[in-house]
Amino acid sequence: MLQKYASSGKEHYLLSLTYVDNGGIESRNRINKIIDVEFEHFKSELFELGNKEPEGSHRKEVATNIIEHTNTLIAIGTRIRNILITNKDFEDPRKVKLAKDLVLNELTDAQESLNNGLDDLSYDYRQEYEAYQQSLAQELDLVFNSILYLGIFGAFLGIILSVYVTRSVTTPVLELIESAQKLGKGNFNVTVQHKNLKEINSLTTSFNSMASDLKSSFTKLTETTEDLEKERLKFFNESEKFMLALDSSSMGFWDFNIKTGDLKWDDQMFGLYGVKKENFAGAYEAWSNGLHPEDKARSEQELNAAIEGTKEFDTSFRVIHPNGAVRHIRATGKVLKDETGTPDRMIGLNWDVTKEYESAKAINEYSQLLEARNKQLNEFAYIASHDLQEPINTMGAFSDLLIKQYADKLDETGLEYLKFMRDSGTRAKELIADLLEYNRIGNDKHLAQLDLNEVAQAVLADLNARIESENAVIEIDHLPTLRGYETELRQLLQNLISNALKFKSEGTIPTIRISTIELGDAYQISVTDNGIGIDAKFSDKIFAVFSRLHSKSEFPGTGIGLANCKKCAEIHDGSIWVESELGKGSTFHFTISKKL
Ligand code: ADP
Repeated sequence: MLQKYASSGKEHYLLSLTYVDNGGIESRNRINKIIDVEFEHFKSELFELGNKEPEGSHRKEVATNIIEHTNTLIAIGTRIRNILITNKDFEDPRKVKLAKDLVLNELTDAQESLNNGLDDLSYDYRQEYEAYQQSLAQELDLVFNSILYLGIFGAFLGIILSVYVTRSVTTPVLELIESAQKLGKGNFNVTVQHKNLKEINSLTTSFNSMASDLKSSFTKLTETTEDLEKERLKFFNESEKFMLALDSSSMGFWDFNIKTGDLKWDDQMFGLYGVKKENFAGAYEAWSNGLHPEDKARSEQELNAAIEGTKEFDTSFRVIHPNGAVRHIRATGKVLKDETGTPDRMIGLNWDVTKEYESAKAINEYSQLLEARNKQLNEFAYIASHDLQEPINTMGAFSDLLIKQYADKLDETGLEYLKFMRDSGTRAKELIADLLEYNRIGNDKHLAQLDLNEVAQAVLADLNARIESENAVIEIDHLPTLRGYETELRQLLQNLISNALKFKSEGTIPTIRISTIELGDAYQISVTDNGIGIDAKFSDKIFAVFSRLHSKSEFPGTGIGLANCKKCAEIHDGSIWVESELGKGSTFHFTISKKL
């Protein structure tokens, strides 16, 4: 601004010199503009500048002086403009001289003062600017030095950091890499210990858990591989053994391709079907054509059922050898499926069961024969015992008559013989009655759903008088409800309970317990007493008809009770046995099949 001010002042001075000599409208207009516009503008700017400076300061003083010089310039300039306005004024030498004097003297002085003032102010500002520049340079110097120190410090810090990073980051990372390489080579026993930094810590933890996972996966894999190898060896051994066993047995192995109908036989199969290897067609028909016509349709149906998955292939059939011999063959087979689940192959075994078939047939015939003979014997025993009853009864009745009416005619020995005769007759009568009863068991049996608790209660009711007279204690567990023959079960329980009451130990209160356990396909019922017990060596004998361990005088009875029990158990597809020790009581167990 000061420069522009100075140049405007200079221009005004030079224009004024020219104007007083030559006049001219352009110069006048320019002078007018400088005086009226530019000087006024500079003045107001200087005024503002001066206002910013403190009161009494050099600058404020110079600014005020410059404003005054400008006012002087404006005043002189205006005077000159007013003296020389028209051409006529320029033609007036007095006016021209006056104006020229004004320019050369007053305007020159004022212009000089203005220039001085402006120089002074410019100088002052320049000084300040230079001082500012200097201080700026010093500050920059300081900043530069600071940067330099910071740089050096940074360099040191960098070195320290790099050492720290090397220790904290690079070392663990290198260790991680090294451990990872070890892992890669199959050494799973690696763990990394560095935990300085949070990130390194989590990296290390993740690595260690990965290594541990890998280790356990590898261990599992190794174990599985070992197991597989064992299984493979086992399978190999088993199949070796199987093939050896097959070779040394009379079993034949067959392999049938369901899709193509191809059939493979091992050497044994040719023997079983009486076919020569070279005549074997290797197809399904080679088998089916060898079947006995009566067994063919059924056997083929069974094979198809196995392929369809509705039935296991386990059957028997007859084959007719080309020489006409008939053999019974047992056949088993397994269907193998392809990856889509479609039956693909069937493999199996054949073996000759002709001997077994013939033995079973013979046994069957024999057992039928036995059954028939048994039936005949039973009928004979029934008829005999029934028919015997009559003469024995007659014998008994006449023995009684003799004793009553002829006692006085006989001597003592004769009377004793007669009494023996009568007693034997009575005993024979009892035995025959028991035998008839034994025979009757199961002849008129009715299968029904029975609550064994009710059956037991009915038996106790029948035996009530004896139970009370003996003061016996009877405990009955909860018994099952089952299918059975009521009369026979009742007889069974009755015989066992009454034996338990009869064979009591001297001076003890009979205590009897009836309990049960459920076996797979049967119920087991047990009757336990605290009686005299049975010597273990008689534990089978006592179940035979008329078999007794005691004389009639010790314990009454005919020895048919347990034989009856045995028969009752057997018609329930069960069995009966005793566990006992002399003097320590007995437990009779019997079973009743659930499949009746
Ligand atoms: P009986 O009771 O008529 O003698 P059983 O066939 O019932 O005939 O019994 C055969 C024999 O078995 C008995 O004579 C007895 O010696 C023995 N016996 C049976 N039950 C018991 C029992 N609970 N305690 C001891 N002995 C027994």
